[in-house]
Amino acid sequence: MFSLNKIFDKLTIKKPRIRGHAINKASAANIIPRAEHSISRKQISPAALKVLYGLKEAGFDAYLVGGCVRDLLLGHEPKDFDVSTNASPEEVNKVFRRSQLIGRRFKLVHVRFGREIIEVATFRAPPQVEQHVDDAGRIMRDNVYGTLEQDAWRRDFTINALYYDITDFSIIDYTGGIADLKAGKIKLIGDVETRYREDPVRMLRAIRFVGKLGLVLDDETERLIPILAELLKDIPAARLFDESLKLYLAGNAAVTHELLCHYHVFEQLFPQTDELLHTEQDNYPRTLLMKALENTDKRIDEGKTITPAFLFAALLWEPVRQQWIQNVEQNIPIIPALQHAATDVVVEQVKRVAIPKRFTIVTRDIWALQPRLEQRTGKRAFRLLTHPKFRAAYDFLLLRTESGEELTELAEWWTQFQFSSESEQQVLVTNLGSTPGPKRKARRKRRKKPKPAAKSE
Ligand code: ATP
Ligand code: MG
Repeated sequence: MFSLNKIFDKLTIKKPRIRGHAINKASAANIIPRAEHSISRKQISPAALKVLYGLKEAGFDAYLVGGCVRDLLLGHEPKDFDVSTNASPEEVNKVFRRSQLIGRRFKLVHVRFGREIIEVATFRAPPQVEQHVDDAGRIMRDNVYGTLEQDAWRRDFTINALYYDITDFSIIDYTGGIADLKAGKIKLIGDVETRYREDPVRMLRAIRFVGKLGLVLDDETERLIPILAELLKDIPAARLFDESLKLYLAGNAAVTHELLCHYHVFEQLFPQTDELLHTEQDNYPRTLLMKALENTDKRIDEGKTITPAFLFAALLWEPVRQQWIQNVEQNIPIIPALQHAATDVVVEQVKRVAIPKRFTIVTRDIWALQPRLEQRTGKRAFRLLTHPKFRAAYDFLLLRTESGEELTELAEWWTQFQFSSESEQQVLVTNLGSTPGPKRKARRKRRKKPKPAAKSE
């Protein structure tokens, strides 16, 4: 269908090198003319088109690149549109009034159109290119920047290195991305081990694209993941947090999670959970997590909001629960036993995946409310109902119940309680019996002491 052997003479330059490996077909590009591919301008966001035409009119080359071209060719709606150009960031900044320079080492430009942001990046050379060869001129003066061709080879996967050319609506393919897309393959560009070592996050990206696009990994791209997964240890926890969100909040969390486990990558991200997911005799931890992930996917599919805090509550519940049980066995009262367990697990987890406090606070609330949901007498149930995290905690209780914990009576009670009238609620609470004396005492103490919950059990 596509003509794969056309030579793109215009862009011929000397062969760039990646870590000493000369790239063979570096000076050839396949051009897929408009008639032979499915991308039409109607599918491209008007904002991205304005950026492409704006740069063109200012005398620069500009292309759509990356995920948007890939997704359009696959018939998916792109998440966002990225533009690649030979204009320097400063030049891009001058062309668009509503634009902003971002980043330090590799500057990017964000061009804003209402709420949409188009990210514009100047062609970049692969990291190991020592000498840049300047045929085209301008962009070569800073050796961080490169040519279109170099920009293609420094990208991660062949299917992510396709360029849509606004001048003739063709697609430019240096790395074999079109053939791989047709074959349904995700293939790392260049020497696989070198490219994973250069940036181990590419392993996470590979898995993410399998989950998201339903394509398969090319043999070598796949084979080396479990072997090199440990390299993820050296990646900053903040970056792994960003990647984890992308992995689990893209609408395919259940499948993606299975893939992460299969390729021994999950243990690098959530080691405490991993240990328990695969050693437990009963299915509870795995069932709970998979149910949570399937729910998350369903909510995303229905356009509902999701809170990452709930996701992390599910992801880390088993280590917290196990630690909680151990603490209680050591005679620590139930509520502080859970607090200590939560602290220990979160402190350990954020060393790997830097979940920000704004999420862990809510995650911890969801956990902390679990034993409190069991204390329904007196005014407690009414108070809990007004707790800002009640709904999340109740959903978490349902999740635990559905996963096999013996909490059915409790879960049903809360379901009934929250949807009843005030008088019915009174009856429900009264039927539980009145609050016994010692507990009231404990509550009074709770207000005064910094470690209140210790007395509540
Ligand atoms: P998504 O649909 O998730 O946005 P994407 O492929 O567009 O997928 P981005 O993170 O937006 O992913 O990156 C845009 C492009 O930048 C990629 O398509 C790829 O060409 C390049 N890229 C991103 N991360 C890397 C990396 N770690 N190494 C090399 N190239 C990368
Ligand atoms: Mg993208």
